[in-house]
Amino acid sequence: MLPRPGTYTLIFSARKICQPEIGRLGSLQLTPGFYMYVGSAFGPGGLKARIAHHRQIARRPHWHIDYLSPFLKLIEIWYTYDPAHREHQWAQIIASTRGISVPRIGFGSSDCRCIAHLFFRKARPSIKTFRNKIHANTKNHGGIFTEKNVFANKAHGG
Ligand SMILES: [Zn+2]
Repeated sequence: MLPRPGTYTLIFSARKICQPEIGRLGSLQLTPGFYMYVGSAFGPGGLKARIAHHRQIARRPHWHIDYLSPFLKLIEIWYTYDPAHREHQWAQIIASTRGISVPRIGFGSSDCRCIAHLFFRKARPSIKTFRNKIHANTKNHGGIFTEKNVFANKAHGG
């Protein structure tokens, strides 16, 4: 992953039921399956720096996802270097995908109009389905890449 700006989706697996506290959102019950979180990185260090952040346990949680990620296992990342801000579009596309539910309205979407930036799916989400939906909806969207099975960080349980 390069230090360039872009948009990403983190795919996490959850193996057991637990109920972490998510700052002011209160507690959120996690159930076994897959959680998807959509974000963007247009600041210094771009995607590379942001993904490095998500791979670690945040000492001072800043985003909602920082409270959640210690309870999940990061298994895959979808990302694009497309220069446009695609995160809200990505969130809407994922929200409209079969089998997707919204664990908590407002999670990760305090600053936008999306229902949430966190989604749940019982079965593992497929990048092929996601790419097809994006390209059917958007002309001139940049390439969407994936990185998986490279997360040996023991800090992430799951
Ligand atoms: Zn949004």
